[in-house]
Amino acid sequence: MRKHFSIAIDGPAGAGKSTVAKAVAKALGAVYLDTGAMYRTMGLYMSDNGITGPERIASASAKPEVQVRFIGDAQHMVLDGTDVTDRIHTPEASLMASKVSAVPAVRERMVALQREIAQGQSVVMDGRDIGTYVLPDATLKIYLTASCEVRAERRHRQLVAAGKDEPYEKVLSEIVERDFNDAHRAVSPMRQADDAVRMDTSDMTEEQVVEAIVERAKAAIAA
Ligand code: C5P
Repeated sequence: MRKHFSIAIDGPAGAGKSTVAKAVAKALGAVYLDTGAMYRTMGLYMSDNGITGPERIASASAKPEVQVRFIGDAQHMVLDGTDVTDRIHTPEASLMASKVSAVPAVRERMVALQREIAQGQSVVMDGRDIGTYVLPDATLKIYLTASCEVRAERRHRQLVAAGKDEPYEKVLSEIVERDFNDAHRAVSPMRQADDAVRMDTSDMTEEQVVEAIVERAKAAIAA
């Protein structure tokens, strides 16, 4: 068996990446890294400071101190010393993350941090460009997707469960807008890596998806 392994799980918003990646990491005894949370934290810094537009975002991107802290197996995001984990999952933070993530200087910083975390330990990382750019030699690459409607329904349910109800139509249009931004940016656009396994989860339960990935991962690690 290899000493360390890495599993890349990419795909559009609401495909179930984080829930699935967390469960896969637990089953395999690896660290789970949510890379979207890192872009969300950068987005929060920019919106808190009223910084807009790619040029201003690029020049401000070196300023904030962004840290990933693991408390148990929960990932916390720390921005300039303050834990901002519970502020980064609003619909506004999602769109802001998508905007700042198109700025090359932001991506460079975040990718360096992601690679540093992946060094020396086994990881399951989810994002948009993990298999294509961050970890090109990942042990296993999965591209997780589902129809826009199914993804919007899932996000809508999550928001309702968290007491943050938003009209379904609004959730759907935000998902469509974010997918478009993520797939059309010039740097590291969201796309399936040539050697990734594509899984459409529209008609699968979470347990089925986790089981299928764990099985593939075990085979890839043993190979
Ligand atoms: O995965 P999540 O929805 O939390 O990501 C928020 C945003 O961060 C995405 O819409 C995308 O623009 C950006 N992102 C990225 N590359 C990653 C992870 C997230 O560009 N590896």
